[in-house]
Amino acid sequence: MNQEKQLQKLFTFIEESPTCFHAVANTEKMLEEAGFSKLEEKNKWDIQKGGKYYVNRNKSSIIAFTIPDIEPKAVKGFHMVAAHSDSPCFKLKEIPEGTLDTAYLKWNVEKYGGMILSTWLDRPLSIAGRVVYKAKDGMESCLVNLEKDTAIIPNVAIHMNRDMNKGVEYNPQIDMQPLVGQADAKGMYLELLAKEAGIEKEAILGTDLFLYNRDKCHVIGLDEMFIAGPRLDDLECAYAGMKALTKEEAKEYINLCAVFDNEEIGSGTKQGADSTFLKDVLVRICTKLGLGEEEYRCMLADSFLISADNAHALHPNHPEKADTANRPVLNGGIVIKYHGSQKYATDAYSSAVMKDICHKAKVPYQAYANRSDIVGGSTLGNISTAQVSVNTVDIGLPQLAMHSALETAGAKDIVYLLEALQTFYRQ
Ligand code: ZN
Repeated sequence: MNQEKQLQKLFTFIEESPTCFHAVANTEKMLEEAGFSKLEEKNKWDIQKGGKYYVNRNKSSIIAFTIPDIEPKAVKGFHMVAAHSDSPCFKLKEIPEGTLDTAYLKWNVEKYGGMILSTWLDRPLSIAGRVVYKAKDGMESCLVNLEKDTAIIPNVAIHMNRDMNKGVEYNPQIDMQPLVGQADAKGMYLELLAKEAGIEKEAILGTDLFLYNRDKCHVIGLDEMFIAGPRLDDLECAYAGMKALTKEEAKEYINLCAVFDNEEIGSGTKQGADSTFLKDVLVRICTKLGLGEEEYRCMLADSFLISADNAHALHPNHPEKADTANRPVLNGGIVIKYHGSQKYATDAYSSAVMKDICHKAKVPYQAYANRSDIVGGSTLGNISTAQVSVNTVDIGLPQLAMHSALETAGAKDIVYLLEALQTFYRQ
């Protein structure tokens, strides 16, 4: 695979996906171009052997799948990849404007997920998301993205806080409210949104709007071995999962890729990994293929899930934060994540399956475990298996500065992941 070409495609996907809604819309575009047909949860499904389909929930989570061109009763199970569409950021409150004296207009925002707050300061920001509006026949929604530098969260000058470089505690209600204009810019955002959506501003009934970092993706390093970009966690894996799915024909297993919203806030929404979305889709596929409950259970027992969510690489300035042995590095290949208390779903069996896939794909892999005195984060694997219990491995691409507004990863690893996931879907 041509690394440069793959990176360019990844960069375009990330830059055009400032929110989970945009990530899903761009995924749908990718799937349409690859000949997938759209299904709606509210309509009856028609599923044929050899077919390729996708369905979204809330327009922020999406599941795509391909059916082998064989008798349905001969289908063995599901080969699944999961990733997430959301990233930590700021969400605009329902009444999103706050003025300060008569001088400034500010966005009124709250945290979405656990970001590194300081990284959002002193950089151009804008807003994107979805707007729900009153249309002729009920309500419609559309994506919006104010594609210009509309806001900034200014730091306090060092002269006003001489302890600035000794570690600062940021209060999201005070320190993180973005400046968007002078006081008389009030109301302007509604006009811009309406113009972008092609509607009257009075028609707007609801919004899910997020602040996003206007930074593009970059290739970094004298040797061009690193990449930096917003939302690498987890759009790298979301992109690779869907891309790999479009490249391979299903043979004996139904190939499926699920990209869930709301991982950053615990997955507990109607469209998150802890919802019935995946289970509902699997059951409907089986029902429409004429397979019963018994066959569904047999298929689950012969299924496999690769939960792909980025992993922490060894930090160049803070090696002491990593485990003494299970410390992945950038460009060292796919990270298989292990956790004694099973916050990561990997076990000896699922780890062996993943290693075998990497051997077949001829790509390197490495192991991650937290330091025993660090709690660490959580991910999708053990959450989605609560709904659909199948053998699962938790993996990810190694990266630095997870949940920064601009994250760093290896330039080679995305190609490794694409190769491995295609190999998985091929078998
Ligand atoms: Zn993640």
